[in-house]
Amino acid sequence: MITDVVIAGGGPNGLMLACELSLAGVRPIVLERLPEPSEEPKANGLLGQVVKMIDRRGLYERLSGNPAPPQPNSAYFMFGAMGLDLSLLADSPIYALPVPQRRIVQVLQERAIELGVEIRRGHEVVGLSQDDDAVTVDVASPGGAYQLRARYLIGADGAHSTTRKLSGIEFPGITYDRMTLRSAHATIPADWVDPATGALNVPGYGAVLPFLPHRTEHGGFSYAPMPGHPPLISATEWDQPATDAPMSLEELRASIRRVLGVDVPLGPPDGEGPHALRRMTGGNTRVAERFADGRVFLIGDAAHVYGATGGGPGLNLGLQDAINLGWKLAAELRGGAPPGLLDSYETERRSAAHRMVLNARAQSALIAPGSDVTGLRELFTELLRDPNTVQRLAELTAGADVRYDMGEPEAHPLTGRFAPDMELRTPSGPVRLAELTRTARPLLLDLTEDASLAETLAPWHDHVDIVTARPQTPAPTALLLRPDCYVAWASASPQPDPAELEALRAASRRWFGAIEPAHARTAETEKRTMT
Ligand SMILES: Cc1cc2nc3c(=O)[nH]c(=O)nc-3n(C[C@H](O)[C@H](O)[C@H](O)COP(=O)(O)OP(=O)(O)OC[C@H]3O[C@@H](n4cnc5c(N)ncnc54)[C@H](O)[C@@H]3O)c2cc1C
Repeated sequence: MITDVVIAGGGPNGLMLACELSLAGVRPIVLERLPEPSEEPKANGLLGQVVKMIDRRGLYERLSGNPAPPQPNSAYFMFGAMGLDLSLLADSPIYALPVPQRRIVQVLQERAIELGVEIRRGHEVVGLSQDDDAVTVDVASPGGAYQLRARYLIGADGAHSTTRKLSGIEFPGITYDRMTLRSAHATIPADWVDPATGALNVPGYGAVLPFLPHRTEHGGFSYAPMPGHPPLISATEWDQPATDAPMSLEELRASIRRVLGVDVPLGPPDGEGPHALRRMTGGNTRVAERFADGRVFLIGDAAHVYGATGGGPGLNLGLQDAINLGWKLAAELRGGAPPGLLDSYETERRSAAHRMVLNARAQSALIAPGSDVTGLRELFTELLRDPNTVQRLAELTAGADVRYDMGEPEAHPLTGRFAPDMELRTPSGPVRLAELTRTARPLLLDLTEDASLAETLAPWHDHVDIVTARPQTPAPTALLLRPDCYVAWASASPQPDPAELEALRAASRRWFGAIEPAHARTAETEKRTMT
């Protein structure tokens, strides 16, 4: 028997892909070598466009515990340990969701199980081979070794991906070994925290704003308070002597003393663990030479890793890899996918990954020690008074400057971009765009006055949901969205002309393909037409 999709790795990105495939009617098998979810403290949260994307799958409330939609940060953020004054921007792209990675994995695992995904814990991918029809996956499990045949194997098995290595895919990039990052969850004197600003007032040094790393000529320091948890305190230094000694709070305290020139008393963390206490030396910035090899695809850290600086791009990229690949793979498996659809996964996500390489490397350069870097920073400080520069760097950090090629050079400016948030009026009441995208189906948003576009897409009615509504605020008059919420076509005309309508049909052909056969809908993907 051949399974449609096997996913190697039940980390955040593998689980997200499993959810996406299930929404599209494909039930994958997830093989995860760990018997239980990892307790290792990794990401402290999600940053950037992925926060909006999580909302568009109905997962924001589960993760944040807040029923309100995500709000952008319009105060400040950082780039290379320099403040980005987001109040200069009319539309801040910086969204943050501070949730520990183990909670993200827990929520995604619950969602995957709800959607019917089979997760086999304690099952490790140890070998693979491909033929024309399928991938044969060798699995080691507590019950013994076995094989699975799958139409596709997805390597979501992290930075040291076995899938990538077994597929002979190189992982070129840079190992930067001069930097040592020490961090720990720790208590600090309560009266050092300014209740008004949340800043840490370090006697003898000054105020350290939360989540805004400070750079001195000796290194970096940051203070990251997490809701309901002890803060994460970090110090970065260069060219430290190698050591095998176990990491300790005292070692972090000594590092902070060298970086800031003053003492910061750190106490053991209280509250629910697990708590971080780690020393990380060096870092890798690498992108796989290929994201696919025949019937094998890579997503997340298996495809790209970044240095410690860069504002937490890991899950911003990886979860959106999963969302980009899910609907394309499902279309290929169902039949009738347009030519080149699966190839577009690598083209699109490689370009997103390269933006993050640029981001991570530029930020590393800006926090490095030395007076020449100090000079560069002075110049940057001047440049950062310009709102356009702040906008560009904020978009780079948020991964919001990605524009995919939709094949229409003269297209509406939104074409190829992640669809903006929209409030819509329908006869059944107000609705946010994010509420219409939860089924992960293609969506035509017809905001024209006479709601005339449904007819143009009549042949695609089984493939594309059509929602007619009125915008609450000025907006384009029509948008065709792919399941990953990228705009495949848009119009600003009150009544799109024949050329625009042909472009709409062309975009539908390009992304949603042949019109036959009509596919059965699952209960979750019922057509919703609100008029
Ligand atoms: C200290 C630290 C802090 C970070 N902070 C942030 C942050 O704040 N924000 C952010 O966005 N990112 C952050 N990251 C990066 C983020 O943690 C990663 O991008 C993310 O874990 C990648 O998810 P993944 O699912 O691709 O891989 P992983 O999380 O590595 O998951 C891979 C899974 O595959 C399993 N596996 C491995 N090999 C096999 C096999 N052969 N067979 C079956 N299963 C296998 C593993 O057990 C694991 O569960 C941080 C990383 C670190 C280390």
